[in-house]
Amino acid sequence: MVEEKQLLSTLKDYFGYESFRPLQRQIIDSVFEGKDNLVIMPTGGGKSICFQLPAILLPGITLVISPLIALMKDQVDGLTANGIPAAFLNSSQSEKAQQEIFSRISRNEIKLLYVAPESLQYIDVVFGSGNISLIAIDEAHCISSWGHDFRPAYTQLGYLKNRYPSTPIIALTATADKATRKDICHQLNIPKAQKHIASFDRKNLSLEVRPGNKKIEQIEAFLQNRKNESGIIYCLSRKNTEMLASKLTSKGFAAEAYHAGLSHDDRIRIQEDFINDKNQIICATIAFGMGIDKSNVRWVVHFNLPKNLEGYYQEIGRAGRDGLPSSTLLFHSYADVVQLQKFAEGSGNAEVQLAKLERMKQYSEALSCRRKILLSYFGELIPKDCGNCDVCKNPPEFFDGTILAQKALSTIFRLKGQESISMVIDVLRGAQNAQVFEKGYQEIKTFGIAGDVSWRDWQQYLIQLINLGYIEIAFHDQNKLQLTNLAKNVLFEKEQVKLAHVIQKEIKKGSVVSE
Ligand code: ADP
Ligand code: ZN
Repeated sequence: MVEEKQLLSTLKDYFGYESFRPLQRQIIDSVFEGKDNLVIMPTGGGKSICFQLPAILLPGITLVISPLIALMKDQVDGLTANGIPAAFLNSSQSEKAQQEIFSRISRNEIKLLYVAPESLQYIDVVFGSGNISLIAIDEAHCISSWGHDFRPAYTQLGYLKNRYPSTPIIALTATADKATRKDICHQLNIPKAQKHIASFDRKNLSLEVRPGNKKIEQIEAFLQNRKNESGIIYCLSRKNTEMLASKLTSKGFAAEAYHAGLSHDDRIRIQEDFINDKNQIICATIAFGMGIDKSNVRWVVHFNLPKNLEGYYQEIGRAGRDGLPSSTLLFHSYADVVQLQKFAEGSGNAEVQLAKLERMKQYSEALSCRRKILLSYFGELIPKDCGNCDVCKNPPEFFDGTILAQKALSTIFRLKGQESISMVIDVLRGAQNAQVFEKGYQEIKTFGIAGDVSWRDWQQYLIQLINLGYIEIAFHDQNKLQLTNLAKNVLFEKEQVKLAHVIQKEIKKGSVVSE
């Protein structure tokens, strides 16, 4: 264990900070105890210090696996400027440059070594020549095909623990739902990792969802009282980014398109103009944002529905990093859902992607506090409505849904969390069908307890109960509905549940246009 005084002086001397942020201290202690650790902290939360500070004090070298080769040089330059000896290894370097680094390592002159997962072949050499005190795995969600940014090269990282069992691992990420977290630990062979999960609540971001019709007109109106405020508009396609940028430019806004199809030089220039406030608006695909550090982004608009809540949360999280109030606006359209469904079906793990899309859709159709829904998706339950989302500001009409909630939750309890939404509704409504009889569910005490509520209404109410955090969906287990800890309050403590009246809003195909 390292003493408090030494930690604080290292923090001050090398990073210039007076105190630790929430969780940093506890994580660093755990690293010094030699444990494996999983750190889930939002972007900007201060993950780097959790391995960079121990790296300075540990006797050997700290290996950092990072997927962003393009950013490695910046990170290493930053560390070096702070007096922390660091280097990176990748395949673009000359053999001479690599040899130079290897000899610095053997002289124990390097504290942090950044390596891309594709370049793991170097690691054995490093282990052979120096002593490795810690392995840090940045953007650890990339190892899981359940995450939203799977990178095949990451799957090799599982061998590290087998091969070097006594070297502690710290895995870090800003985005991972519960199941992805489990998968990360499983794949990295660190089942006993200490989990450190920071709050994801970004109170300064207002949340708003609107139907996606006449989007360009809506954006123009949105921009009227945001003159000169930096913002990002995320689109699904490259074509849309260009169309939107040129429309906004023709209306007198300073907007540029950004996507992976542009040349490297163009992308750098566009990023810099945005960061230096020379250009107000970026119309971008999700290619934009990773590693961009701009604190005064005042708003983020989603022109199209993102494919999952992880991506959405990460993208809106680029607004308001300075802590000042910032706005987010999401356009929801049926056309986008259809398109995203097609993408999901064509992807390697269609079932998971479709379930994630379903949660995204539920969020955009929510009738209860959106922040509660978002945070509960990441496993964080907040007791109160946020007051800073469109639903809180303009709530739908509610009724006392306690009895309905009790019926639903006790049915899920009796089904032992083994059934998905449609069977739960069938049991609640007393459906006489083969699947029900096959499983003997007609014997369950709550069978047919609420047949007076239509199938569609039940679907809505169950979605509301999911969004309120009483029920969760086991995505990776056939979308079974299961109770959360909060459900107990309703079942046993008579907690009141407010449900919103179901509005019979038919979204017909084609009635909502995508510009
Ligand atoms: P992440 O990797 O989680 O996105 P970083 O490690 O890049 O976040 O940290 C985000 C910002 O917060 C950086 O500018 C960093 O220097 C700053 N920071 C980190 N820890 C502290 C601290 N204890 N006190 C003040 N600023 C900090
Ligand atoms: Zn709210």
